[in-house]
Amino acid sequence: MMCPTPSPLLQRLPPVRGRLSAGADLSKLTWFRVGGPAEVLFKPADKDDLAEFLRRKPADVPVTIMGVASNLLVRDGGIDGVTIKLGAGFAGITAAGTEVHCGAADLDMNVATAAQKAGIAGLEFLSGIPGTIGGALRMNAGAYGTETKDVLVWAEAIDPQGTLHRLTPDDLGYAYRHSNLPADWVFVGACLRGTPGEPEEIARRMAEIKQQRGETQPIHSRTGGSTFKNPAGRKAWQLIDGAGCRGLRRGGAMVSEQHCNFLINEGGASAADLEGLAETVRQTVLAKSGIDLEWEIKRIGRPDRVAIAGMSSKNGSNNAGTNGGNTDEGGTHD
Ligand SMILES: Cc1cc2nc3c(=O)[nH]c(=O)nc-3n(C[C@H](O)[C@H](O)[C@H](O)COP(=O)(O)OP(=O)(O)OC[C@H]3O[C@@H](n4cnc5c(N)ncnc54)[C@H](O)[C@@H]3O)c2cc1C
Repeated sequence: MMCPTPSPLLQRLPPVRGRLSAGADLSKLTWFRVGGPAEVLFKPADKDDLAEFLRRKPADVPVTIMGVASNLLVRDGGIDGVTIKLGAGFAGITAAGTEVHCGAADLDMNVATAAQKAGIAGLEFLSGIPGTIGGALRMNAGAYGTETKDVLVWAEAIDPQGTLHRLTPDDLGYAYRHSNLPADWVFVGACLRGTPGEPEEIARRMAEIKQQRGETQPIHSRTGGSTFKNPAGRKAWQLIDGAGCRGLRRGGAMVSEQHCNFLINEGGASAADLEGLAETVRQTVLAKSGIDLEWEIKRIGRPDRVAIAGMSSKNGSNNAGTNGGNTDEGGTHD
């Protein structure tokens, strides 16, 4: 019987109370259902565990932060270093007055629902965004004319030295789908503020959002949301449609017929198929309209399938559940 390949990186990391796994299959965690393995996936137990880990990990080890990966394209070669995914220790919603306190791992939908029940209006836009609060804070997620920055009182983030900071929207340099938080800082929680509202009226608006989303977006498909940002004064989908790219295919990837700024994994797509198709769209739009679309989806990881040091390379298939060659050493590393 073959022994699992030991992970040299795992041996270099400090002990944690959460979970460190080598070679975790990220395709199971991404909305697109594509992506290679994480060299090491870290699920911290709580803020103290995360802060201690960041403080003590070797400085040369890169970190990548992941929410529920509804805006991420993880490339087929996987992610070097440590990928951090926050779980239950970073969730918990309380609503009082017109404010909602929540953790970075809380789903936007759950925060919107808690606000609705407490009679706090103005957060219903979050109900249509399928990510976490951490992802919303990073991306300045928004819909229907409201962005995260508009309802944010403060956010808390931990820096690479393990220090907790409380930050205002001004500190975060927000712009359209952009914040200035350094890539290796981790949001851990936030306080959002709405206005007094009637729970029934808020629920009605959330139902409208749900219906509208279902009619206009492929919300039940393997997708990553809007592929490109809207250029100033224009809609990306109109430019893509005008360039004749609606329904375009590459491998198992397709430009959605329903909303052509969305890409879909029809089942067998690789991350390279999706990224290559989007680049074709970008070039076609540029040639047709002179407008160079900017990616909204974050692309991370290595494009190739070369083995990450110390891990078994393997079959090359990157669909959910087929990444059997990577060793999950599992267990708490302590
Ligand atoms: C069907 C569909 C519809 C969508 N509709 C919208 C929409 O209307 N409006 C909109 O704005 N977006 C939309 N999106 C995109 C996506 O849902 C948002 O960008 C969301 O905020 C991403 O959250 P996430 O938890 O999935 O983050 P991820 O996709 O996992 O990560 C996105 C970015 O945030 C960073 N990040 C995540 N968590 C943290 C953290 N705790 N600390 C620091 N950085 C972190 C990641 O490093 C990455 O850079 C849609 C996506 C889909 C699939």
